[in-house]
Amino acid sequence: MLKLENYIGGELVQPASGEYLDNFDPSTGRVYSLIADSDDRDVHLAVEAASAAFPAWSTTSPEDRHDILMRLVGLIERDLEPLALAESIDNGKTVAIARRLDIPRAALNFKFYATAAMHSANESHDSVGQDAINYTLRQPLGVVGCISPWNLPLYLFTWKIAPAIAAGCTAVAKPSEVTPMTAYMLSKLCIEAGLPAGVLNIVHGLGPKVGSAIVAHRDVKAITFTGGTATGEEIARVAAPMFKKLSLELGGKNPNIIFADCNYEEMVAETRRAAFANQGEICLCGSRIFVERSLYERFKKDFVENVSGLKVGDPLEADTDVGAIVSLPHFDKIMSYIDLAQKEGGVILTGGKQVRLDGRCSEGWFIEPTIIEGLPHDCRTNQEEIFGPVVTIMPFDTEDEVLAYANSVRYGLSATVWTENLSRALRVAAKLESGIVWVNCWLLRDLRTPFGGMKDSGVGREGGFEALRFFTEEKNVCIKVTN
Ligand code: NDP
Repeated sequence: MLKLENYIGGELVQPASGEYLDNFDPSTGRVYSLIADSDDRDVHLAVEAASAAFPAWSTTSPEDRHDILMRLVGLIERDLEPLALAESIDNGKTVAIARRLDIPRAALNFKFYATAAMHSANESHDSVGQDAINYTLRQPLGVVGCISPWNLPLYLFTWKIAPAIAAGCTAVAKPSEVTPMTAYMLSKLCIEAGLPAGVLNIVHGLGPKVGSAIVAHRDVKAITFTGGTATGEEIARVAAPMFKKLSLELGGKNPNIIFADCNYEEMVAETRRAAFANQGEICLCGSRIFVERSLYERFKKDFVENVSGLKVGDPLEADTDVGAIVSLPHFDKIMSYIDLAQKEGGVILTGGKQVRLDGRCSEGWFIEPTIIEGLPHDCRTNQEEIFGPVVTIMPFDTEDEVLAYANSVRYGLSATVWTENLSRALRVAAKLESGIVWVNCWLLRDLRTPFGGMKDSGVGREGGFEALRFFTEEKNVCIKVTN
């Protein structure tokens, strides 16, 4: 069986323990490859390799870094099909979404930051009256740690690595142990692209072993992390007293607010996508749907009908809309929330059950897209992140009321608003407690914009030049001009 090895110092190497973990295909429930079960010894070697690579890489010109990263872009684009297939098998997502979204975005992440590094500029301040000039140097931090989750595996892994190495840092990166395959394939592409040894090191294994060793390592200057809020808290607890820079992109429980004056057809189609794309396993999914009362019954009927038509099936089949849930523990977690919703008085309008497929996927982990109504905004189902194909719908009467509902959760990642009333859109967007607001759309991304959450959804913003700055230390130099 294929063994996924670590990528350290430019080579594929076995873990120090010599041990491997099972890697499951969620659509069949079967083990199909093995992952290095690494520990702090492997992390130590990776940090050593990254430290050794740093002096040369940090002084390589942005143009030369660009050329190497663009070779990687070309290889990812060349391997679009095998990477998309691997992502689908590893994660359970449909191959269609991997082909359309995950892999192209991974290539774009490198393309975006390879070029951004050539365009970044530093400030200078002419201190008139003091006969001085100040200028700000932005110097790469050194070795940084990148830790990413399982839901958009290569997409989010590269979203962290690309700005880090484009900025001149070297990196020790850990993909989720649940979805390591495309990170492993990326390590082979890095070798083929001629990325200098040690610039990127990928250590596979469990979060509490490998992830925590990266976070705790003295020589790792910054941590960029995407994952659950509880893990983010643990990382902050360890890293903050060491004064590491932290960028934390955490969980969400995002509201989708629908006013009666919206563009109805477009809203229904996008609301379905926002609810169930990638099996609802996107941190930005709109899982709490608030509908103005005058539109509620019409929306409910059409939405239920629309969602009932989604095909849950083999992720590798072209007409499948909803694939497998990423792991058995996550499947159990989602099913337990469907139980909880009913205990809390929720009524299931469609879905709510496990799907048992025939043939190849008969042992896979599939759940029907589920819509629940009849729950108050402050019950656990409406307050806790489920991160699966489960949404609730709730009516509201006034703008103030729906804002109070929307803002009642501990999270503040994203929100969607549907209205044709410009003033209302501006008012509501300003009052929503979330880092990202989409008006009349969902997940429309421009990589130059600040991306991230407020409240318990995180600290810091990714995207644009902000991400490049995160990986640099600012140093002000003040020069007195003598006359
Ligand atoms: P986790 O927090 O469980 O894991 C994220 C990563 O952290 C994994 O690589 C994991 O390794 C690792 N990890 C686990 N424990 C530790 C530790 N103690 N120290 C360091 N690293 C650790 O999240 P999930 O993978 O379950 O991802 C789902 C979560 O991610 C959801 O809450 C979702 O909302 C959030 N998310 C947020 C996004 C955003 O941009 N705000 C985007 C996408 C997802 P391992 O997998 O091996 O345990």
